[in-house]
Amino acid sequence: MDKQREASHWADETAAKIIREKGEKEQYTCASGITPSGTVHIGNFREIISVDLVARALRDMGKKVRFIYSWDDYDVFRKVPKNMPKQDELQSYLRFPITMAPDPWDRDASYARHHEVDVETMLPFVGIQPEYLYQAERYRSSRYAGGIRKALEHRDTLKSILDKFRDEDHKIQGEWWPVSIFCDTCNRDDTDIDGWDGDWGLSYHCNACGHKEGGGRKEHMK
Ligand SMILES: [Zn+2]
Repeated sequence: MDKQREASHWADETAAKIIREKGEKEQYTCASGITPSGTVHIGNFREIISVDLVARALRDMGKKVRFIYSWDDYDVFRKVPKNMPKQDELQSYLRFPITMAPDPWDRDASYARHHEVDVETMLPFVGIQPEYLYQAERYRSSRYAGGIRKALEHRDTLKSILDKFRDEDHKIQGEWWPVSIFCDTCNRDDTDIDGWDGDWGLSYHCNACGHKEGGGRKEHMK
């Protein structure tokens, strides 16, 4: 009877579905994550606890589970939320990666880190302890370089896949790159890509400060 009641919980049903669809695995990875671009609120918690419940259900079934939580702290700082102090100072960091904006409370290493710490210190109180991944650190250590290069190699295919799902008025116009660049001089993402050398180099110019970097496709072509 109890078993039946347990099996009807949506988390158990989801766990059973994962095993059914993915097959027997040595380990199941459950993932969640957000951009720490402002106060992490109860709506964000809904996603965290949903994934945690599925991870628990899988563990109850005797499975080994890795729950990763991705902090997308290399995303661009698009807008200063109204509830933040030091509005003017934060405004000057718009279009930077949020990991480079300062903590307006001067408590943590950055704006992004402040919001991460708020969550990371609270979650253990409700028994949730995911493995945190920090995307700024991962991007900057070239961890994704291989994947980015692969996307560049297949950019025409990627573009046609994206266009397949767009109507005539929204097809991608002109050149399209599966990557965006933060300017090496002013740190903003207001850049246009000029070329890829077919290897590890992209050239770009910055519309915000005029900086140019990289030799362009022709010069680097082997
Ligand atoms: Zn610049």
